[in-house]
Amino acid sequence: MAECAFCKIASGELPATKVHDDDVVVAFRDINARAPTHILIIPRKHVASLNNLSREDDAAMGHLVRVATQIAQQEGIADTGYRLVANCGNDGGQSVDHVHFHLLGGRAMTWPPG
Ligand code: AMP
Repeated sequence: MAECAFCKIASGELPATKVHDDDVVVAFRDINARAPTHILIIPRKHVASLNNLSREDDAAMGHLVRVATQIAQQEGIADTGYRLVANCGNDGGQSVDHVHFHLLGGRAMTWPPG
């Protein structure tokens, strides 16, 4: 989508510190990190929110989760633990309308989230 910042990061039109890039998903460091490791993992395909996913996205989303676990290994947080979370809609706190998962680690997380 022409106006989507995350589509522009995926295409290279906007800069980001990428930690993973393949033909299905891209991962980059969050510009406003909330933990020592805070990485966003997105599908290249523009999907506005989790609510808009369809069956044809199943393989991409499965791949995305597996890439997240690989990045956790790379970042050295796989053994200490981490959180993989996607915000959806207003009450979920979603601010960018392109499906993304936050990979957060490097400190103990609290529960429940605020
Ligand atoms: P959410 O509130 O779940 O939609 O998360 C959006 C996240 O995107 C926030 O944590 C922002 O800090 C992050 N973000 C927004 N723009 C950028 C950008 N250009 N590069 C990296 N992270 C970004």
